[in-house]
Amino acid sequence: MPIEPTYPLAGKRIWVAGQRGMVGAAVVRRLAGLGCAIIPDRSPRLDLRRQADVEAWLEEVRPDAIVIAAARVGGILANDSYPVDFLEDNLLIQTNIIGTAHRIGVERLLFLGSSCIYPRMADQPITEAALLTGQLEETNQWYAIAKIAGIKLVQAYRRQHGRDYISAMPTNLYGPGDNFDFNSSHVLPALIRKAHNAKASGAESMTVWGSGTPRREFMHVDDCADALVFLLQNYSDAEHVNVGTGDDIAIRDLAGLVSKVVGFDGGIVLDSSRPDGTPRKLLSNEKLARLGWTPKVALEDGIRSTYRWFLEQPSIRALA
Ligand code: GDP
Repeated sequence: MPIEPTYPLAGKRIWVAGQRGMVGAAVVRRLAGLGCAIIPDRSPRLDLRRQADVEAWLEEVRPDAIVIAAARVGGILANDSYPVDFLEDNLLIQTNIIGTAHRIGVERLLFLGSSCIYPRMADQPITEAALLTGQLEETNQWYAIAKIAGIKLVQAYRRQHGRDYISAMPTNLYGPGDNFDFNSSHVLPALIRKAHNAKASGAESMTVWGSGTPRREFMHVDDCADALVFLLQNYSDAEHVNVGTGDDIAIRDLAGLVSKVVGFDGGIVLDSSRPDGTPRKLLSNEKLARLGWTPKVALEDGIRSTYRWFLEQPSIRALA
């Protein structure tokens, strides 16, 4: 039986910060048809790192609810190479939006983090209670610290000002609109492009970074957007909520699955000079399941539809 939402979105004005990104665009797609007005990002000059810009923008558009899908994001290499950008930009973006939302009386706010907020050696699958129980993974600690501060700020506004603001922590996401640039992307889009290029050039193998043994969990961005809209409508509590599939896969096996979907039948060469990152980060999705939401997109199907999307983007296929 469908759950009656505690915060129905019909008639609400919603701003999705970061709506041109993969996650924000998926949230906007998911919100269509729910009877809410989605506020478009009209201003090309809006720099979310600048408090004055964010204040002027929010005072002008006055949303009832905000989803913060805006962030400086990137894969293992980008995180490791640009620590200032990942720490400072994310702190600024989230602090400006959350603080201004409170000052102008925004009713509901959903802040997004990621599974890298958890300790590197957390017990698997990782429950929400594992937050701040151990050392972070070094390669993405900058991003993680910013996102942990965001969770705490959301909780602080709830405690000090009674704001009905919440946080969700999605696992590794992929899908249409993903970043396919080898220097800054996450593993899944990188492997899609590598397998595609290897097939197109008749190469015998493609290169996979690290040992191939780390395990990662992957969720299609449309599944994630569905979960986020569910939480926005139904969840109101201080603790953040994990958004995952409950399954993970070794990077080497992921490379095999991507090769199968793309139709590349060559081998895999492991580049051990590249970092592995955390050995495993599988989220427990029990809390979300108890609330009444479960994922729908199987990994192979999701990779297939993402590859179809990739094939329709000549500008991405032509990247050097
Ligand atoms: P992480 O989840 O923060 O570690 O970020 P990534 O998605 O960038 O990397 C996940 C795992 O995939 C790491 O163990 C990487 O070393 C591995 N990996 C294998 N090949 C690639 C690749 O071509 N690009 C990226 N970004 N990661 C790769």
